[in-house]
Amino acid sequence: MPKKGTIAGQLASDSKKICKAIHQYSKGKISSENMDTLMEIGHGCMVTKNYIYQRYGSIKSLEKLYPGYTIEAEVKEAGFREKIGLPSVYFSAAMDRALGDIRIMWAQVKSGINDAAGKNERFSPQDRHYIRFAVKVSGCFENILNGKPVSVPKEIQPKYEMILAELGDEREQRVRNLNRYICRQARKRLRRQHTENETYFSIKMQGYRYGELDGEHGIFLTTKINRKRMFIPLTDKNVYDRILDIKLNPQKRTIEIIVPLFVNIRQHEDYINEIGISLGLWNMITTSTGNVYGSAFGKMQNEISDYILEEMRRNGKAKTSDTKRYMAYKAKMDAALKNYVNMEINRMLEMEKPEVIYMAKLPRNPGMSMKGTGDTYFLRMWKKGFVTERIQWKCQDNGIRTIEVIGKGIGTDCSVCGQKGYIEGETFQCPVCGYEENKKVNGAKNALNRGKTGKQLNKQFPQEKEEGIIKEHTEK
Ligand SMILES: [Zn+2]
Repeated sequence: MPKKGTIAGQLASDSKKICKAIHQYSKGKISSENMDTLMEIGHGCMVTKNYIYQRYGSIKSLEKLYPGYTIEAEVKEAGFREKIGLPSVYFSAAMDRALGDIRIMWAQVKSGINDAAGKNERFSPQDRHYIRFAVKVSGCFENILNGKPVSVPKEIQPKYEMILAELGDEREQRVRNLNRYICRQARKRLRRQHTENETYFSIKMQGYRYGELDGEHGIFLTTKINRKRMFIPLTDKNVYDRILDIKLNPQKRTIEIIVPLFVNIRQHEDYINEIGISLGLWNMITTSTGNVYGSAFGKMQNEISDYILEEMRRNGKAKTSDTKRYMAYKAKMDAALKNYVNMEINRMLEMEKPEVIYMAKLPRNPGMSMKGTGDTYFLRMWKKGFVTERIQWKCQDNGIRTIEVIGKGIGTDCSVCGQKGYIEGETFQCPVCGYEENKKVNGAKNALNRGKTGKQLNKQFPQEKEEGIIKEHTEK
């Protein structure tokens, strides 16, 4: 399988960072000549990756993978780059990505072995302890796989001997058996990586420069021809200074630049609560603990839609004008609302200190477009989607998990006894057990109950995901 999540390689080494990708797009059509040049580079990078997968994806090369200097020297020695004529800013980026992919594969092999050992009932806790140790400690795993004697770092030697002692009198035989098990499991999981993707490659910082040409902002990319850089106009004026991923669309003759941004996850050791929330059009968030955040949410939205409606009335047609004054004022109100949403979500996180937040999945609503219609319902639906997204991002930044639960009937089920109740005004009432509560609080409690009992739709574990999180993120 061709791998796309190449950024993950850098990610695996630092689990407290998440990756948010920013996208940039080429403006207009790229000339066929330039597109050909890019395709050639893409092809070269694919070939490079496959070369690295082929040469360094096996058990034999495992010990060379960390830290990787040996590989760099070997590849240089082999003169492969010169053979395929790829500029080093692309070549070494492709090499890094491929090595990153191989490292990720090994990490998966290791965790697979641990999982299998954990489920294998033949093993005693001491056996599993040995396996975990052997898989994790450098000098163990690669030597076992290569049939070499194990040599662990001095400072870990006592620990190693203790684990061996735990295995009892027949430890030699057991270690042999366990090592054989590790080898078998590793071979079973090892896969030779390969990519057919010629339209996705990376470029190192030294290989590009943002700038202007003929009044257009864009990016200059290194080409095979010495000193000749290709200019590609971009739709935005942002500049970045890191390794970039480039995705080609030869049919449309466009490119997309993917900029990985690594963001530190804030760790809050005191965030240990599980809460449910329900979103509202008037009160933005109600929690299962009975608190409300964003109580001015509905009022602010109404002001915006009133303004749009008023403007439409003044124009005497079902269309808003696009005068500067109108646009500027509308943008100001939108910004104020977004700012308010962010502030209130922050306040919620600080107050509730959640480790996990459960929330109902929003119904998919096609045709949610609200451009110029002034339709308050659609406006509100759209804002609700915006709120969910903001919550998810804020949570990710703070190392909090958000889990969506099944939304059906979440407002009308009784959060105490589970029977169907009814809603009167703002109040939920249960005819079976007599429970009475604010309807939003009841909904939030249902979200919490459903989350805890496993009626979950997705799970987002911001720091635990090995492949990393690559997602659009444009706003701080
Ligand atoms: Zn009830």
